[in-house]
Amino acid sequence: MHQAALEAAGLSGSYRALETPPAFLRARLEEVRRDYTGVNVTIPHKESVQPYLDELSAEAKAIGAVNTVLNDRGRLLGYNTDAAGFIAGLDEAGIPYRGKQALVLGAGGAARAVVYALREQGAWVAVYNRSLERAQALAQDLGVRWVGPALLKEAVQGCDLLVNATSVGMKDPLASPLPEGLLPRRGVVVDIVYNPLETRLLREAQAAGLRVLGGLPMLVWQGALAFELWTGLKPDVGAMYRAAHAVLAGASPESQSAG
Ligand code: NAP
Repeated sequence: MHQAALEAAGLSGSYRALETPPAFLRARLEEVRRDYTGVNVTIPHKESVQPYLDELSAEAKAIGAVNTVLNDRGRLLGYNTDAAGFIAGLDEAGIPYRGKQALVLGAGGAARAVVYALREQGAWVAVYNRSLERAQALAQDLGVRWVGPALLKEAVQGCDLLVNATSVGMKDPLASPLPEGLLPRRGVVVDIVYNPLETRLLREAQAAGLRVLGGLPMLVWQGALAFELWTGLKPDVGAMYRAAHAVLAGASPESQSAG
């Protein structure tokens, strides 16, 4: 996706994976400071990378997670483009969220970005997570409601916008984050899992007549925003979509890495 954007912009350079075990994170960031324009940060480093950066954007600070680092002449600046990328994907699809009741499933780094983004954009947000204490901590940090198991059914059926921000369904086309038969009564279901491109949750929601959106738009837009931070240029988003889609549509779920 980034390689396609670089080529479309006529820029030399490359984007590649730097496998980084946790014990090597600090040394890796020093290498980035020396040799790279920027990096994306992914599981499991989005939170633990923060102490090694020189400055965080207001968004990254509020969310508590960094997915993009810009090397500004030796100073490492941390950003979170997952939040704005999620909203850009909704906007592109014409999905409304202002003033809507949103229920976000999950309490990891991605859920924090989605909850922050929806709250900032004027949605009424509640969060549900398998581990209740994590949902409660997220709700307290970001000033939203949490839902426990006793009220899950009511919250799902009553929401306008349901977002799966758990990793359930990733690399497993048969897994769903919701109990069998439970779906919203109206509105939109978004699954930010992008591998597979169509998850069980999306298939069931679509079959029930609900509008659906998968994880590809968020993936592409968070990448487009990172590209802009690194290069100062707006990328060819169509080229990024085509490259990402070609890889994800052609791949077996097992062969892809997490995002
Ligand atoms: P994470 O920090 O590891 O969080 C994982 C979340 O999933 C936690 O809330 C966890 O609940 C929940 N979970 C995991 N297994 C579960 C299970 N069997 N049943 C119920 N809940 C379960 O991961 P993350 O960084 O937030 O990423 C989450 C997903 O979003 C991944 O699939 C990732 O690929 C995707 N993502 C997509 C994009 C995109 O651009 N489309 C961007 C970022 C992330 P507990 O707290 O109970 O463990």
